[in-house]
Amino acid sequence: MSHVVVDNPHGLDQQLAALDLNPDGQGGGTGRRYIPPHLRNKDAAKNGFGGYENKDGGWGGAPRDAAYNSFGGRNDRSKSAFFNDRGAGSRGRYERGGFGGGGNSRWGEDSRGEDDWSKPTAPNERLEHELFSGSNTGINFEKYDDIPVEATGSNCPPHIESFHDVDMGEIIMGNINLSRYTRPTPVQKHAIPIIKIKRDLMACAQTGSGKTAAFLLPVLSQIYTEGPGDALQASKSSGQENGRYGRRKQYPISLILAPTRELALQIYDEAKKFAYRSHVRPCVVYGGADIGQQIRELERGCHLLVATPGRLVDMMERGKIGLDHCNYLVLDEADRMLDMGFEPQIRRIVEQDTMPPKGIRQTMMFSATFPKEIQILARDFLEDYIFLAVGRVGSTSENITQKVVWVEENDKRSFLLDLLNATGKDSLTLVFVETKKGADALEDFLYREGYACTSIHGDRSQRDREEALHQFRSGRCPILVATAVAARGLDISNVKHVINFDLPSDIEEYVHRIGRTGRVGNLGLATSFFNDKNSNITKDLLDILVEAKQEVPSWLESLAYEHQHKSTNRGRSKRFSGGFGARDYRQASGGSGGFNSNRSGRSAGGHGGNRGFGGGGFGGNFYNDGYGGNYNHSGSVDWWGN
Ligand code: AMP
Repeated sequence: MSHVVVDNPHGLDQQLAALDLNPDGQGGGTGRRYIPPHLRNKDAAKNGFGGYENKDGGWGGAPRDAAYNSFGGRNDRSKSAFFNDRGAGSRGRYERGGFGGGGNSRWGEDSRGEDDWSKPTAPNERLEHELFSGSNTGINFEKYDDIPVEATGSNCPPHIESFHDVDMGEIIMGNINLSRYTRPTPVQKHAIPIIKIKRDLMACAQTGSGKTAAFLLPVLSQIYTEGPGDALQASKSSGQENGRYGRRKQYPISLILAPTRELALQIYDEAKKFAYRSHVRPCVVYGGADIGQQIRELERGCHLLVATPGRLVDMMERGKIGLDHCNYLVLDEADRMLDMGFEPQIRRIVEQDTMPPKGIRQTMMFSATFPKEIQILARDFLEDYIFLAVGRVGSTSENITQKVVWVEENDKRSFLLDLLNATGKDSLTLVFVETKKGADALEDFLYREGYACTSIHGDRSQRDREEALHQFRSGRCPILVATAVAARGLDISNVKHVINFDLPSDIEEYVHRIGRTGRVGNLGLATSFFNDKNSNITKDLLDILVEAKQEVPSWLESLAYEHQHKSTNRGRSKRFSGGFGARDYRQASGGSGGFNSNRSGRSAGGHGGNRGFGGGGFGGNFYNDGYGGNYNHSGSVDWWGN
């Protein structure tokens, strides 16, 4: 049980009261000294997270069973319309086990080119379970539909409202059904028809918006319709030249470039789902892992390749990958790739090798922001593209309840324990710290206090990071301590609580971090520990809270007021205004001519010029404030802070 006391000069008492850390009504406002939870009765901690262990092999029994039982059963319409050959004996000849996580089971065969790639191959229950049992649960679609999308560019096709509005073929529709994606997310509603009609696309959307499926579904659908073309023959010929069957160069039909191993793996996982029961074999290559193993995987066939730029260049130089038949190129999180210094490798891959030129290949770029460097890349890589600006998902929106509490450095650990004890034990909590050393130290501390936790940071090996993520996602270790760099771009869909143990100094980083919760329209909670060390973020933080209609502590307002009078008027980047990451620069600068604005505004509902986030109460254990209301979309915005 927590006991909370009230002698903090900065209003910690009020904050704690607001946190409702005393569910039984005891302890508040008594004037007693604050007793750190780890010095109180140890049983309290054990009854919180400490004793929590998922004994079900890491999946969380209920969702797994629910997901598995749902195959072919949840959506009758889809069931009868797609994959209705389930169990058909006639396809039994395709059944082969033992493939290493690819989309299908026929990769050893040599005569694939003759098959009809638009027809589903035989089902495989074990693989189906493996791929789809972890699919999403609890998605708040009502919230999600409120995200505004703006499309600009010539002859932009109308957006879709349902996956059924566009013909993506039997395989894709079957896999959408198995993934339990009942309706497209806003970026999908717009991007799918654009990609389907073979237009290039520049989309400003974040991880968490459903952008991966937004490009995978239409790209794979086109590959299924059109078949492998010359790619298979090229690979076969290279094998004959080498004189060793199987040791052949692979010619992927589609390439997806991503900045980090983690993101590459996420995309790969999603690709495997949508390649299920198809002839397409997805592969992934990334740095920091055994290249020999990756080469062996490639040699078993690779039609869709997910890669980090450095490792791909290595593979190309070793003669393992040829891009001659790469008809679909996707650059995911392009801004991060440039931030990480990958531009030379990206240009080497796209411009200085054998990849078909722009206009011949189809190119899609996704980026959370659209600074000058990305505009230049878009100009160089894309042909007459359509620009999509997707509102930020659950960042400055009311999807996330944001709390800022004053906590002195010395009280942070104790306060963290209070929060963890008050949170439901089956909730995933992500704790951000500033340094690698800080991450190690906090993990040790929590571990000693009996909490099932893990950590990731830049000094951890690839294997350790993957293991930690797995432990976290599966709920076995429902607390993850992370540095910002290590956690960037990760899709961990059901994080309930993000805690900024150390606040960043940069407001963009803050937005990224809290965006780890409230994903795909879920409601989330973000708590930030604030003290004197964080004064440089005061004004920006206040703006964000106000913009997202959050409760603003009065001390933060006072501090911001003081700060504003002390410092020069730096002003916050207006990038967040209106909730978009960026806007089509061709319009802002008068454009390169001929681009019609095709502002579709809201993807659902149509509330005119106001964003109309619906609000609603967060039903968590200890935050119980309602939030809601609309805020106005500001008209003239300088999207890049120029
Ligand atoms: P992304 O932004 O691509 O990282 O996607 C975030 C999460 O949303 C992933 O776990 C996806 O599997 C999930 N997702 C994507 N599209 C949909 C959809 N239409 N319905 C439900 N979940 C989705």
